[in-house]
Amino acid sequence: MSAQIFLNPSREKSLLRKHPWVFSKAIKQIKGKPGIGETVDIFDNKGNWLAKGAYSPASQIRIRVWSFDKNEQIDQAFFDKKLANAKARRQFFIEQGGLTGYRLIAGESDGLPGVTIDCYDNLLVCQLLSAGADFQRLAIINGLKALYPGYHIYERSDVDVRKKEGLEPVTGWLTSPDNPEDTSRVISEYGIDIKVDVAAGHKTGFYLDQRESRAAAGRYAKGKDILNCFSYTGTFSLHCAKNGAKSVTNVDVSEQALNLAKENHLLNELDGEHIQFVKADVFKLLRTYREQGKQFDMIILDPPKFVESKAQLTGACRGYKDINMLAMQLLKPGGILLTFSCSGLMEANLFQKVVSDAALDANKQAFIVERLQQAPDHPIAANYPEGYYLKGLVCQVNQSF
Ligand code: SAH
Repeated sequence: MSAQIFLNPSREKSLLRKHPWVFSKAIKQIKGKPGIGETVDIFDNKGNWLAKGAYSPASQIRIRVWSFDKNEQIDQAFFDKKLANAKARRQFFIEQGGLTGYRLIAGESDGLPGVTIDCYDNLLVCQLLSAGADFQRLAIINGLKALYPGYHIYERSDVDVRKKEGLEPVTGWLTSPDNPEDTSRVISEYGIDIKVDVAAGHKTGFYLDQRESRAAAGRYAKGKDILNCFSYTGTFSLHCAKNGAKSVTNVDVSEQALNLAKENHLLNELDGEHIQFVKADVFKLLRTYREQGKQFDMIILDPPKFVESKAQLTGACRGYKDINMLAMQLLKPGGILLTFSCSGLMEANLFQKVVSDAALDANKQAFIVERLQQAPDHPIAANYPEGYYLKGLVCQVNQSF
């Protein structure tokens, strides 16, 4: 029999709203000795059954729920069903976009807490980030093999959050490809080819979540001189160049990222003098450009995550405000700013306030003309608002009030 977990009075409320986390402080009593990642039954203070989930003794999030159905067994059939449902939900977006790269499982939002699975051509990349996900790895991998026959699977469980779950990093092949050295694939994103290296790339290899924002950037790009900050693989630039940008300057601090971006431009025959690659710290370069009086028609700011914990939020706001203010100062009258935050802890309202404050400091009037968010293969389950992490604003920026 599974171990039984009893909650403190009124701590059942979030579970009744189908939120999938139980924090350590919510727990009153544990009957039995659950091992790391094992499935436990959760009860309220009065002994009413609530849910079943995976126990994680090292984490503040002590249990992540697998199911709110008492009769559901957490077995191979359970994972097969979750994987198949997630794929079916995405089918429309995959077909409509002709996508060969997409997120199949977005953790809690797909009912599989701690599990991320991305598909790149004929290769699946999995991240098992919680004790429960790691405990169930065989069922998850077997489920993937059955749903995607002939595909290969690579593991990228090398993310810091595993430490909080008491897990070591794990990377490598989970199947046996003919050429294990070959960890690259080319995916197609709205007619643009992108090379992804699943072993060396960020996250599972690539930022699939910005797909719709990149397409949006393309819609604004025609005839414009564009500055693409934090360019990584250069994919914003590819969409802009393909849609008739006059010039694009890509900026990244990483030489390796810039080389990959150059390779992607060559792959799409979108290279040439009008595409520039600058190795620099964005914070410094924007100041240098301001001193030089350089101006752009459009600027993209897609920085890495600035906030990992609540304690970092104030500092992060300063960072976001700084780059947004500088970018607005570098825009020609009526110019377009595409600005993003991928920090979940930075809520949409706060991000908008930071951008407004940046406009005030720059003495510019900004109009929000479009809001952007993570692509639909990274859905936000309504019962799991934390799933909303990527926010973007398209602002048209006037010279002054
Ligand atoms: N826009 C990209 C994703 C950006 S990821 C896309 O659509 O795929 C963030 C990038 O910012 C990384 O490539 C990292 O090397 C770069 N970076 C981080 N800090 C930086 C800084 N201070 N200046 C310039 N680049 C930076």
